[in-house]
Amino acid sequence: MRLAPAALGALRSLPMALDAVVGLGSNLGDSRAMLCEAARRLGAVGEIQAHSALYESEPVGPPQPNFRNAAVRVLAELAHDALLDALLDIERALGRVRRERWGPRLIDLDVLWLAGPAFVSDRLVVPHPELRNRAFALCPLLDVAPEATDPHDGVRYADVLAELGHQGVVELPGTRSSWC
Ligand code: AMP
Repeated sequence: MRLAPAALGALRSLPMALDAVVGLGSNLGDSRAMLCEAARRLGAVGEIQAHSALYESEPVGPPQPNFRNAAVRVLAELAHDALLDALLDIERALGRVRRERWGPRLIDLDVLWLAGPAFVSDRLVVPHPELRNRAFALCPLLDVAPEATDPHDGVRYADVLAELGHQGVVELPGTRSSWC
């Protein structure tokens, strides 16, 4: 069957389901409650596939409290930009104010990785450009996507983490089964 150009255009504009790993971080206020609320709101963005354990990590940048980090794997019937907008909406709703780049934050949500090819636009770069340098992102990512590889070169993130080391990132006891 041949589709008319207009029908083809309509098909192409349909959002694909994104199998995304969203990284969550917080180091101000009640961080655990903040991550829990962000994870709950992600349930309205798509179907939650898995939660990582909760991790504690030392901050990158100026002196500030330690971070709590986690990751959630979500299947979302959204275009890439719409997924980013949904994360920014959650950050705003939870009171994040953008200040210094490496500064403390109530909540930070990043698209760490997507199953399938890499994605680059003016607003979004996936895999996250810093993913391979950050144990605080790799540890929770691997909980929810142990099979994940870098789409650029096929390298397994499990091997990246083994080489990088845990950089002082520790899993909080008792959080593997639930923290929310
Ligand atoms: P930050 O809150 O400091 O992590 O920066 C957020 C901004 O980075 C967003 O407004 C996006 O436009 C941009 N960005 C680029 N790639 C990503 C990504 N993979 N996940 C989240 N934000 C991204």
